[in-house]
Amino acid sequence: MEIVIPCTKCALATQVEGGGFGPDGVVLRSRTVLVQEHNLYRAACPEGHQLVAILDNLPFELLFESGLEALVDGYLRESVSSFAAALERLYEFSIRVQLTSEKIDLNDLEAMWKSVAAQSERQLGMYIGIRTFKDGKQPALLPQPLSKLRNSVIHKGYFPSSKEASDFGEAVFKLILDEVRRLDEGFKEAVGVQICTHREKALRLLNKDDEPYFFGFGLAVANREDRPFSDVVIKAQRSMRRRCEGEAPPA
Ligand SMILES: [Zn+2]
Repeated sequence: MEIVIPCTKCALATQVEGGGFGPDGVVLRSRTVLVQEHNLYRAACPEGHQLVAILDNLPFELLFESGLEALVDGYLRESVSSFAAALERLYEFSIRVQLTSEKIDLNDLEAMWKSVAAQSERQLGMYIGIRTFKDGKQPALLPQPLSKLRNSVIHKGYFPSSKEASDFGEAVFKLILDEVRRLDEGFKEAVGVQICTHREKALRLLNKDDEPYFFGFGLAVANREDRPFSDVVIKAQRSMRRRCEGEAPPA
């Protein structure tokens, strides 16, 4: 999966005295790079400016987008695998947010996570437990047939049909959207703390003279609006087409 890093120096260079912009408006130069594990990106723009950019999008947002791109591109196994990973990282985000809201120290939280990090079943169990404790009832989960599909794809090399991959994506989309909206409504402050913690991971990788800036994209699940999954797929198709033609996506 690729992302486009905008160059703020090029944009500023087109600014004229008094704060407005020159006759050509803001020049948006950018550099396309592959998504990487760390959210700190270093690249050179086409004009040679050195870019040090921190990507604000959360791992589950990027993984879901990667699943969407694979779906519209016809890589259906990869699509199911990325959607499944997005859901797991959403569970992690939710656990971290809810424990933060209970004033668990961030270092203790980190130490606790180490004991579940390697096993997704442990994480799922913790998510179900915390949600049941908070809400008095167990949360909605991936339906059994879709959970089976995930296991077949990931562990048995199964090639899903287009409908299976799309149904899987739709179920994950709904689960993620419902959960991020619940977190935004009930745990706003802790969500903010976790977003800062995510930024700090990149800040720790900076060199002394770096001048970083933050950027983020309106990815499918970064947009909390309730809408049909078919609209999300159509938007992903359009955005991939635009990017192939060299246009930057909307910030
Ligand atoms: Zn530039």
